[in-house]
Amino acid sequence: MKVVEKVHVKVARLQSRLTTASPVPRADQPQFAMTVAAVTDLGGGMRRVTFEAPELAVFETCGPDEYFGLLMPARGRPLALPDPGMLNVRAAVADLPEEDRPDLRWYTIRAHDPAAARIEVDIVTHGDCGPGSAWAGRARPGDRAGFRASGALYRGGDLAGRQVLVADETAVPSVAAILESLGGPGAAAARGVEVHVEVGDPAVLAAYDLGAAHVHVRRGIPGSAVVPALDRHLARGGESVAYAWACGESDLAAGARRTLVRHGVDRRRIYFCGYWKLGQARG
Ligand SMILES: Cc1cc2nc3c(=O)[nH]c(=O)nc-3n(C[C@H](O)[C@H](O)[C@H](O)COP(=O)(O)OP(=O)(O)OC[C@H]3O[C@@H](n4cnc5c(N)ncnc54)[C@H](O)[C@@H]3O)c2cc1C
Repeated sequence: MKVVEKVHVKVARLQSRLTTASPVPRADQPQFAMTVAAVTDLGGGMRRVTFEAPELAVFETCGPDEYFGLLMPARGRPLALPDPGMLNVRAAVADLPEEDRPDLRWYTIRAHDPAAARIEVDIVTHGDCGPGSAWAGRARPGDRAGFRASGALYRGGDLAGRQVLVADETAVPSVAAILESLGGPGAAAARGVEVHVEVGDPAVLAAYDLGAAHVHVRRGIPGSAVVPALDRHLARGGESVAYAWACGESDLAAGARRTLVRHGVDRRRIYFCGYWKLGQARG
């Protein structure tokens, strides 16, 4: 990692710590090639892709919603991986010859099985208009893709008190993994963790046990169902919120954060992340 890159990362982390809960950075960023072992349709357009690679036998996650950069080979080309020594993976990808340049999108590790050297990744497919969705839609066993480690976001595991998790379908795999890490939906609810989910099609939830989650069906733009519902829910009062995590479409995550702040939650106790942006490539 170059010195300039290290300084930029440190400054960005310090700045964000003042306005948001901090994510969980990794000490290392391993990168390696994987092979698709299986593809399963979970319902509502959600596809589970199972990857295998010898490196996954020793890989250690740093949090329940650990995410990674999925490097998808250019159409009709073998997988080319960027320089693993460069911290800025986008810049490293841009250094590759254009015809070999892989597409890059970020996905959450839904499950990791070191004994089988496998991970499961649940991807929302929404047609061919984005490289992530298009790749997942045509993925077959034997396909190759790259893994670039990144970090995790959720930091509420050791906290006592009320927690609020807000998600759309792209962040449902993360919520499922978080609930599992807390002992399952029942145990999580007993310790004060609430889940507020917005989905376009409830069928996308078929493969998940989210316990007594508040589920809202979207009829308009992302956030239009869950954000007002969260507002009404918080207005009913209850214990103050010790920690909140809001991930999914960018305006949904930002709207959930604004609502939490308006109800008195300290900004530094809220982590929020735009997983994707309506009308715009994630880039
Ligand atoms: C930390 C992190 C973790 C993530 N984990 C997951 C995960 O586990 N599962 C998952 O599915 N995604 C996850 N995402 C989102 C993922 O990285 C992609 O942004 C998403 O899959 C869209 O990529 P794309 O290439 O298909 O579309 P893009 O190239 O980003 O967008 C192309 C067009 O498609 C639209 N679009 C993008 N996504 C959707 C959607 N869901 N519904 C409708 N239209 C859409 C955009 O608005 C745009 O107009 C995560 C993102 C982050 C940052």
